[in-house]
Amino acid sequence: MRVLVVGGGITGLTAAYTLGRAGIPTTLLEASGRLGGKLRTERVDGFLVEAGPDSFVSYRPAALELAHELGLRDAIVRPREPRVVQIRTGGRFVPLPQEMGLVLPTRLRPFVTTPLFAPREKLRMGLDLVLPRDDLTCDVGVGAHLRRRLGAALVDRLAGPLLGGVYGTSIDELSLLAVVPQLRDAERAHRSLLLASLAAGRARRHGDGSPFVTLAGGMGQLVDALVGALQQAADVEIRPRTALRALERRRPDRPLEALLATGERLRPDVVILTAPGPEAARLIEGVATNVATTLRTIPHGTTAVVSLGYRTAQFAAPPADHGFLVAAGEPLSIDACTISSAKWPGRAPEETVLVRAFVGSRSGRAASMSDAALVAAAIRDVATTLGARGDPLLVRLARWTSQMPQYTVGHLDRVAAVFAGLADTPSLILAGAPYQGVGIPDCVAQGRAAATRAQELLGTARATRPVVPVAS
Ligand SMILES: Cc1cc2nc3c(=O)[nH]c(=O)nc-3n(C[C@H](O)[C@H](O)[C@H](O)COP(=O)(O)OP(=O)(O)OC[C@H]3O[C@@H](n4cnc5c(N)ncnc54)[C@H](O)[C@@H]3O)c2cc1C
Repeated sequence: MRVLVVGGGITGLTAAYTLGRAGIPTTLLEASGRLGGKLRTERVDGFLVEAGPDSFVSYRPAALELAHELGLRDAIVRPREPRVVQIRTGGRFVPLPQEMGLVLPTRLRPFVTTPLFAPREKLRMGLDLVLPRDDLTCDVGVGAHLRRRLGAALVDRLAGPLLGGVYGTSIDELSLLAVVPQLRDAERAHRSLLLASLAAGRARRHGDGSPFVTLAGGMGQLVDALVGALQQAADVEIRPRTALRALERRRPDRPLEALLATGERLRPDVVILTAPGPEAARLIEGVATNVATTLRTIPHGTTAVVSLGYRTAQFAAPPADHGFLVAAGEPLSIDACTISSAKWPGRAPEETVLVRAFVGSRSGRAASMSDAALVAAAIRDVATTLGARGDPLLVRLARWTSQMPQYTVGHLDRVAAVFAGLADTPSLILAGAPYQGVGIPDCVAQGRAAATRAQELLGTARATRPVVPVAS
């Protein structure tokens, strides 16, 4: 074995798949009995339940390209139209203004007319048009920066709910340069963030659909296709239920050794480590102590997803929107809720409704509440907001403890320090959600890049084998 890939999430699977196609002898270790990491799809009583991600963006092409390469082109599914998402504020729902960019409007009219903001709040946002450009030579919190330019209302009711949920932390802690560098670039080019966003909207093609896509069989279909391709690759060995216990090295000039939980000791030429940050830090402690220390400064939060299935008759008016985001200050435990059965085709049986509630990630309560309390909070909040009556038919809880990397202010510097610290240990490659993007496309791109780097180190960069689609 020349390359050892640690972790069978989307990053590790992509790395192993890329190496397998290049004919590099590769072993993939996965600690649990299941491959896919956070991509976990379950079919139960006709419901398709996602424990982690339910979709990915198509404008960062890596994941979509991978799906195509794996023969999944026909399985790509887009959200149902019309795409209406609500904001829960002041105890009522207000539609998210149409034609939004990341956190700002790309068209003026829906924003000017939205009841989400009072006229004086809209006037305050107008200050952005005249404020001088901020050069942003060092990192700042997204919340603080937007609040200064556009006012608190935009942060509390729009940008915070939109961004905070993705990273499971408050928008005030999020790094502008790591999470929304587009805002820095926009400000440099246009001075005003609003003007930049409107210009981006004008430049965009008309009729652009949703940027999100999923697969007919859920995100697990991508995992199954990758595993199918890996099983066909002659040089790849997949070892589930086999954890790496530690990386070791007899002397700094000696090769890395991988001590497995089974007691085996492997001597790979290259190790690609894709475990979540806290675990990765523990694994490399013995070979790169300073890097492990820096890695521990990348915080990892806890998030919980409660999936609830109901009969349609349990709602006075069955929810038809794609879901809602919760504004700051609302007396709810959930941060957001997706109506999966309304958003995607094929997620729930006829006459039923499937919702996915995200509980307590922004507030940090997901880590401290018991399973029963999380589920009870989700059921209560779905009753309060959507009017669901009685007990749900289906309840599934997925809690991701200390597994959500939070890109807080200074994240890029921390990642740069981690990578620089590995200069003495080139045969150790770190990749995955803690570093250069948490989204599935970013993880796929990092898995590919890690595999390419491993090939370079082995001096085996060469043409890849033709792809044989493994699924249709
Ligand atoms: C609730 C939730 C919703 C999300 N929604 C979206 C979304 O809609 N769209 C999107 O693009 N992204 C979404 N994300 C983010 C995305 O799912 C993750 O960032 C991505 O899947 C991480 O992939 P990974 O391979 O880097 O890590 P992981 O999926 O965490 O995989 C790491 C793997 O390493 C294994 N491992 C750990 N330690 C060891 C060891 N010692 N030895 C061997 N194996 C080990 C673990 O068991 C795991 O399988 C979501 C995440 C969560 C939690």
